[in-house]
Amino acid sequence: DVVSIGEILIDFVGSPKGRPLAEATDFRRAAGGGPANVAVGVARLGGRTGFIGKVGRDAFGDHLEQILEENGVDTRGLLRDDEANTTLVFVALNEKAVPEFVFFRHGTADTRLDPAELPQEVLEDTRILHFSSVSLTVEPARGATLEAVRLARAAGAIISFDPNLRLSLWPDAVKARQEILAAMKLADVVKLNKEELRFLLGTEAETVAAGVTALLARGPRLVAVTLGEDGALLAGIESKVRLPAFPVQAVDTTGAGDAFMAGMLVVLAEAIQQGEDLEALDSAWLERLGSWGNAAAALTCTRPGVIPALPAKEEVAKLAT
Ligand code: ADP
Repeated sequence: DVVSIGEILIDFVGSPKGRPLAEATDFRRAAGGGPANVAVGVARLGGRTGFIGKVGRDAFGDHLEQILEENGVDTRGLLRDDEANTTLVFVALNEKAVPEFVFFRHGTADTRLDPAELPQEVLEDTRILHFSSVSLTVEPARGATLEAVRLARAAGAIISFDPNLRLSLWPDAVKARQEILAAMKLADVVKLNKEELRFLLGTEAETVAAGVTALLARGPRLVAVTLGEDGALLAGIESKVRLPAFPVQAVDTTGAGDAFMAGMLVVLAEAIQQGEDLEALDSAWLERLGSWGNAAAALTCTRPGVIPALPAKEEVAKLAT
């Protein structure tokens, strides 16, 4: 029902924490890529989910396929590239706890997803298609992603977008802003953090509420801004809600945004199934969407890593309203 398309990769997470990436003395291998995290997140929360993307015919690709499969994600759309390697990223949390990334993504498998090889049968069956801007940074993946959005929309799906801004992957900030704002026009649902909101809208986002209003005028019908330990603000056409975060002992906040997205998409799928209209979601639905997003994200923060940290449905249901 919820299908994610886009980057799937191996993160090498450096330790010890709190030092520049170049000073890491050890690396832990982890499955990653925002859309892949979201697919697993939705599956853990009991949603039917699939993934579309590309990995190499190598040991890393085998590992990623296995992670998706053992989590019950439909991998009919996971393609293998005979001529390119799986995408790799080295990452470490530096002294300011800001992640420092180095991408090895020149000509690697995820960038080579081609419009001609999109799995039509998966897209026709999609209720919600989720993507991020990382897929838009290079061709042919960019064209494939936009074509998938077009096909899914034509088949009646809701389109979900996470800008997931990785500036180093773009030629410059102007191009990044332009492409992300254009992608937003294609999306019904957008989730972003405060920094991304400011980056995209500049002075139009003087306050989060003003930024959200400006974004809603650019196409999406549901916008969620995550505010770290301050929770989230959700706005639809009809109403707006501001929800505090769940108080937890955070040990690792990586992947919190992806967990939030997964929580929100599971509830959205439920709302759509009950015949709710995205245009007319009332504040009770917005609260439920935000509460599941916040709860899934908070639980993820209490455990190290991303995919291993994503919560199960029972845990979220206990916390969320
Ligand atoms: P990103 O990680 O994408 O930058 P945020 O930092 O806004 O996004 O975090 C996403 C969500 O994770 C927040 O909306 C909140 O629900 C949850 N979260 C983040 N940090 C904490 C924290 N310290 N305690 C509880 N929840 C948190």
